[in-house]
Amino acid sequence: MESKKEALEKVKNNILEGKSIPLADTATNLVFGKGNENADILFIGEAPGANEDLQGIPFVGAAGKELDRLLHMIGLSLEDVYIANILKYRPPNNRNPNVEEIRMHTPYLIEQIKIIKPRIICTLGNFATKFVLAHFDVDGMKKIGGITFLHGKAVEIKVDGMNFTVIPLYHPAATIYNRKLKPELEKDFMNIKNFLMLRGR
Ligand code: URA
Repeated sequence: MESKKEALEKVKNNILEGKSIPLADTATNLVFGKGNENADILFIGEAPGANEDLQGIPFVGAAGKELDRLLHMIGLSLEDVYIANILKYRPPNNRNPNVEEIRMHTPYLIEQIKIIKPRIICTLGNFATKFVLAHFDVDGMKKIGGITFLHGKAVEIKVDGMNFTVIPLYHPAATIYNRKLKPELEKDFMNIKNFLMLRGR
C-alpha cells in the first residue's frame, strides 16, 4: 500500500506540474509542508513569507521560531506534528491571500488533510480558520466569527468518513506584533496539551 509520504509526494508533484497555479511565477520555491505525516496534529498557517519562500519550508522565519517555542512549551516537537499552509506559494510582499488564490491552492491542502488524517487540526489565524471551518461546514457554521472570537474554541468535525477536532488559534506572527495576544496564545496551547492528555496521548 502507498505510504502517506508517497501520497503526499504525488500531491507535491501535481502542484509543481500544474500549469496555472497563481503565485507560482513570482515565488522562488513551492512551500508544501514539513513534519511527521503520521502525526495526530496538523497545523495550518496562512502563506509562506520571505524565509519560507527561499528555503521551500513552512514556518522557518520569526513566526516559525515562535511556533517552535510554543510546541516545545507543551512538550511537542516537529516529530509530533505536521505543518502546512493555505497558500503553497508566497504572495508578493506578504500581502493577504485573495479569493482566487485560496480557491486554487486549497484543493491541495484538502488532499494533504485526507492523506494525513489528523485527529486535531490547529488553524493559525483568520485565513486558515475561516477556510477550514467553512470548507467542513457540517453543522451549518455559516456565521463564522473572527479569530478574536473563535480562538481556543474546539469544534468537532465529522464529515466524509473523517473525524477530527479543529482548534482555532491566533497566528504566532500576530503575537509578535501585538504582545497582548501572546498570553492568550500560550493559554490556548496549554489547552491543546490538556486536550491531548484527556484523549490519552
Ligand atoms: N506564516 C505562515 O502562515 N506560514 C508560514 O509558512 C510562515 C509564516
